[in-house]
Amino acid sequence: MEPITSIKGIGAETAEALAEMNILTVKDLLEYFPYRYEDYRLKDLAEVKHEERVTVEGKVHSEPSLIYYGKKRSRLTLRVLVGRYLIQVVLFNQPYLKSKISINDTVSVTGKWDQHRQTITANEVHVGTDSISKDFEPVYAVKGKITVKGIRRFINLAFSQFGSNIEENLPEHFLVKYKLMNRLTALRIMHFPTDQNELKQARRRFVYEEFFYFQLKMQALRKIEREHSKGIAQAYQLENIKTFLQSLPFSLTNAQKRVVNEILADMKSPFRMNRLLQGDVGSGKTAVAAIALYASCTAGFQGALMVPTEILAEQHAESLKLMLEPFQIKCELLTSSVKGKSRREILQLLKAGDIDILIGTHALIQDEVEFHHLGLVITDEQHRFGVEQRRVLREKGESPDVLFMTATPIPRTLAITVFGEMDVSIIDEMPAGRKLIETYWAKPNMLDRVLGFIEKELRAGHQAYVICPLIEESDKLDVQNAIDVHSQLTHYFFDRYQIGLMHGRLHPDEKESVMKAFSRNEIQVLVSTTVVEVGVNVPNATMMVIYDAERFGLAQLHQLRGRVGRGSDQSYCILLADPKSEVGKERMKIMTETNDGFLLSEKDLELRGPGDFFGKKQSGLPEFKVADMVHDYRALETARNDAAQLIQKNEFWSAPEYMNLRNYLKESGVLKGEKLD
Ligand code: ADP
Ligand code: MG
Repeated sequence: MEPITSIKGIGAETAEALAEMNILTVKDLLEYFPYRYEDYRLKDLAEVKHEERVTVEGKVHSEPSLIYYGKKRSRLTLRVLVGRYLIQVVLFNQPYLKSKISINDTVSVTGKWDQHRQTITANEVHVGTDSISKDFEPVYAVKGKITVKGIRRFINLAFSQFGSNIEENLPEHFLVKYKLMNRLTALRIMHFPTDQNELKQARRRFVYEEFFYFQLKMQALRKIEREHSKGIAQAYQLENIKTFLQSLPFSLTNAQKRVVNEILADMKSPFRMNRLLQGDVGSGKTAVAAIALYASCTAGFQGALMVPTEILAEQHAESLKLMLEPFQIKCELLTSSVKGKSRREILQLLKAGDIDILIGTHALIQDEVEFHHLGLVITDEQHRFGVEQRRVLREKGESPDVLFMTATPIPRTLAITVFGEMDVSIIDEMPAGRKLIETYWAKPNMLDRVLGFIEKELRAGHQAYVICPLIEESDKLDVQNAIDVHSQLTHYFFDRYQIGLMHGRLHPDEKESVMKAFSRNEIQVLVSTTVVEVGVNVPNATMMVIYDAERFGLAQLHQLRGRVGRGSDQSYCILLADPKSEVGKERMKIMTETNDGFLLSEKDLELRGPGDFFGKKQSGLPEFKVADMVHDYRALETARNDAAQLIQKNEFWSAPEYMNLRNYLKESGVLKGEKLD
């Protein structure tokens, strides 16, 4: 690839400045797309929305007035008659324009329209015949010494010197099928558009290109993982599984049946399963996990179930024992609080193959834990495990099948991006007869009424959760909040009801005893930080109050809300929130309107963007230059299917027309010498 200095007119110094912007090669420069386009076509102000950018033409109605504040900062203000509107135009730090503009001049003004103040904050004003002849001009993000004008000039140089070298990089039949522009034309238009429509077409091409290349990598990874992983073909006993199903106190929903079939098919195949199972809170994932674990046991293997918290591990261990021990399956719990002799014993039995299913926290992936014949690993709420842990897990034992379960509904577009190398199963149906949780949004000044509502539920013999504000990045403040609310409520309910306190700083033993007391109804109100978020099951709890609900994501609110509504009684969720922004209000409203986790997750993505979705630490989101995962999700799906189909074809791995794609896979490290030409 030609370095940037091979362009005549770009020397070492400029190259250095460009390197700061990650532009190292000619290709980088040509693909350095504008982040927006200034639109110089005149518009009617009546049709322009608040805060939109606009160019208008009008007559100057007042002498410009100039104010300096500080040495270099100034503000130029004038009135301009645009059609029927007399508007104000403000220009910052361009004092020299004052002498160029006089009353009755015709000016064209480009900037941002403030509808309420009838003001354009302009970055450009052109007087009389000096007006701009173009309709569009690209605007680039720049850094240091590089100016927008400079970038435009460099790109021009690059095109005239290297334009003829630009090659198509998508297979011809996709260009034809989707009527996509060829690469050279599209590149030119991205930098020098003449109208909106062609710009749209050029953008469409690059959206597809970016997604296609990304998905090609993901799909190739998936194929290679499958075919080169020496997985185990688990020969489970179907008859036993059927008997087990009959022993359950319910029959599976259609969605459960479907995902069980998908999982069993993977387990039976010689490929290693690498599957994500999504299902809303209460959709019955645990039952599915139990069936898969049992199946693995009937094939003579061991299974492991990993969860993020000790409490959850205990609950799962309890319910799995109940379901599976009648079938001579030995289940054991291993957490970090299992110590000393009993720990050694468990490890020994496990190694000897005398424990069939091990349930625990991430302590399960420590080196000292050795299985005899591990066939299946299931993780619950896997988004709490990092990418690295996901990998360690897959490498445990002799390539066990791996199933990741999550109750956080991940919007499809994110699922196929972040988890693109996995297969995805979805339980999109609730067991029959579930009551919907009634959700209300209350302002903090209605706290008294909310407390009254809680008391009413308590008097009926029910219990309540009170979740305390989430303080970003500060576990300590979270805890302080929980302590404050706890003492408030203790004061309020004083000797009528018992109020418990739960937070992440408690010792595991303390947490356990609080949780046990709550599940035995020795505590009626549990004040907690978000540690109760995951999996906890107390069916008698029918009330959930969430303080400062606007601080939580919709997906998380939905998770929290899922702690109630687990029994046969009507449950309630109250969001105490006073959001200031429109988006905040919108989010609270949506919560009161739907119980559908997938819908909420799509909304969350729309309102907060993909970066916020998984939290900052481990988003694992790829960066695209042109494409937008949320708005271009259809193209993402199309590109995914195309890539998946293409790599299944034999000619992809041999035909010359796909050589550049194979090389790309090689360069990006997906192919390591295998299967090439
Ligand atoms: P999840 O793990 O998806 O949140 P669980 O597996 O804990 O959900 O199931 C929630 C509750 O629903 C449990 O009490 C479980 O016994 C019950 N359940 C699971 N599947 C069904 C079904 N098909 N019909 C009726 N109840 C079910
Ligand atoms: Mg669960």
